[in-house]
Amino acid sequence: MREDNSSPEICTLDDALQCTVLTKQNAKILKSTKEGWITAGVHLLPNDLGGTNLCPYSTPTCRHICLHYTGRNMIFKRVTRARTRRTFLFNTHPEIFESRLHAALYETLRECKRKNFGLALRPNLTSDSHKLVKMFLRWKDNVSEHTEVPIRIYDYTKIPKAQGWFPEDYVTVYSWGELTTEEVFYENIECRSVAAVFAKGFPDRFKGYPVISGEDHDLRFLDARPGVIIAIKARGRAFQDTSGFVVDLTE
Ligand code: SF4
Repeated sequence: MREDNSSPEICTLDDALQCTVLTKQNAKILKSTKEGWITAGVHLLPNDLGGTNLCPYSTPTCRHICLHYTGRNMIFKRVTRARTRRTFLFNTHPEIFESRLHAALYETLRECKRKNFGLALRPNLTSDSHKLVKMFLRWKDNVSEHTEVPIRIYDYTKIPKAQGWFPEDYVTVYSWGELTTEEVFYENIECRSVAAVFAKGFPDRFKGYPVISGEDHDLRFLDARPGVIIAIKARGRAFQDTSGFVVDLTE
């Protein structure tokens, strides 16, 4: 049986200062380069694994099958170590974290300019934190007027529209979960896309709404819109889910 390397370790400020804050190497976000965008985001430890709850609307199932528990993170201890250090810095020294984030974003912007790419920013790769989104928006407010590189900020979120803070230049897709009520589903699908994880293949429609694949790329600001379901494939622990989080239409 493969060893689980996803548990955080004890971390000090000296450790944390060694971390990089921005990620551009996740397999899914790499798909966006063929569409002309460089995607960058931040991998923090989800929910309260780093000591502060960064996913206020997480559910028992999403905490168990979170993307944190898929891919390289389960194989290499160094991936969790980097997320632990980054989260420690974010929680305990947000001003240092933000200044490093902004420096890394400037560097990525220069890369986009050189290569003639747009810059797609997905702040919460493995968290659901508005504090992190605000750091990205502050940077974008400073640079947007001084660059011709298109910059878009987007996320998947479990925070219902009615409970959240969602400025216009932040595109969000609501993530369906096992505790999503009919009321919350309809309230969200009327004003933005809803993403759902499917066990086997994608249907043409879900709950009466058209379904499009979210697998070809991750650039949700290009295709997410009210009344559209974004279909995501089950990965990792999601294959064992029986809570209703993963939709299995063959049952
Ligand atoms: S809200 Fe998202 S990032 Fe947080 S635990 Fe759930 S699936 Fe993971």
